[in-house]
Amino acid sequence: MTTEIIPLGTSAAIPTRHRHLSSTALRWEGRLLLFDCGEATQFQLLRAGLKHSHLDAIFITHLHGDHYFGLMGLLSTMALLNRIEPLRVVGPAGIAEIVQAMPGVRHDDLTFRLAYVELWDDLRHEVVFDTKAFTVEARPLDHRVFAVGYRFQEKTQPGRLDVEQAKALGVTDYRHYRALKAGEVVTLDDGRVVQPEAVVGPPRPGVSFAYVSDTRPCEAGVTLARGADLLYHEATFTEDFKANAVKTGHSTARDAAEVARRAGAQKLILGHFSARYKDVSVLVDEARAVFQNTEAAEELKRYKIFPAGPEKF
Ligand SMILES: [Zn+2]
Ligand SMILES: [Zn+2]
Repeated sequence: MTTEIIPLGTSAAIPTRHRHLSSTALRWEGRLLLFDCGEATQFQLLRAGLKHSHLDAIFITHLHGDHYFGLMGLLSTMALLNRIEPLRVVGPAGIAEIVQAMPGVRHDDLTFRLAYVELWDDLRHEVVFDTKAFTVEARPLDHRVFAVGYRFQEKTQPGRLDVEQAKALGVTDYRHYRALKAGEVVTLDDGRVVQPEAVVGPPRPGVSFAYVSDTRPCEAGVTLARGADLLYHEATFTEDFKANAVKTGHSTARDAAEVARRAGAQKLILGHFSARYKDVSVLVDEARAVFQNTEAAEELKRYKIFPAGPEKF
C-alpha cells in the first residue's frame, strides 16, 4: 500500500477563503497520523474522505493557536461517536493541561484512552512513536516559542520472496518460505541446500517524511529532512519579506529550498503561506531556483511518497 500525505490546511496564522489552518495527514497502510491540528481540521478530514477512526496519533508542533485549536473539536467528535481505540497526542509540554481544561474532552468524558507525550524545551532529539514498522522522531526548531519538527521513518522491510523461483528450486513448505525470508539457509528433505539470496530480493528501504513548521531555517530542520523522500517545510514569505520572516520566526520559500537542498531531500512541498499571497506560484518559483523538485501544498491533494532508488515507481 502506498504511503501518502494529504495537506489539510496550508494557511499561516489566519485562514483565508481558500486556505485552512495548519494540518497535514499521513496515510500509511490504511492508518492515519496527523501533523498539527488547526481549527477546521475535522471538516477537512471529512472533505478528504479520511476517517478519524483510523487516526493513531496527532503530532502538534507548537502551541500557537493556528496549529492546535482543531484538537478540541476533533476529540469531542470522537467521544460523541464512542471511539474506543486509544489515541496518542504528542506536543510541547502544556498541551495535556490545555486539552483537559475543555469540557467534553476531559479524561472522564472520553470513551477512549488518550495518551500524551509531552516535550520540554530542553529537547534535543526524541523518538515519540515507535511501532514495528515505523518511528516518528521530534527535534526542536527555531520559532518565537518552543516548536518541534517531526520525521516519519518507515523501517527497512525484508526483501520480497520470489515464490515461483523458490518452487522451481524445490521449496514447497511454508516454514521454509518463512526461514528464507528471515535470511536463513534451508536444507530440503532430499538434502539440497537453498540459499536465501537465491529466492529473496534485497531489503527494501522504508519511506521517510519530514514535517518542519513553524521555524526559521535551522540545522534541526536539515537533520529531520536528511535524505527524506518528502519534506513539508513552511514557507510563510518570499525573500522580499526576509526581515519579517526572521523577526517572526519563519522561513522564506528560498530558505525552505535551501534546507531541502542541504538535506538531500527528494521532494519539497511548501506550506504555511501568509494570507498576503493569493497566488503562491511566486513562492514556488523562488524555491525552484534553489531546489527544482518543489511544489506548493494543495489542500486535499494526495502526494504519494516514493522510496528513493530503483524501486521508485
Ligand atoms: Zn503557524
Ligand atoms: Zn507559530
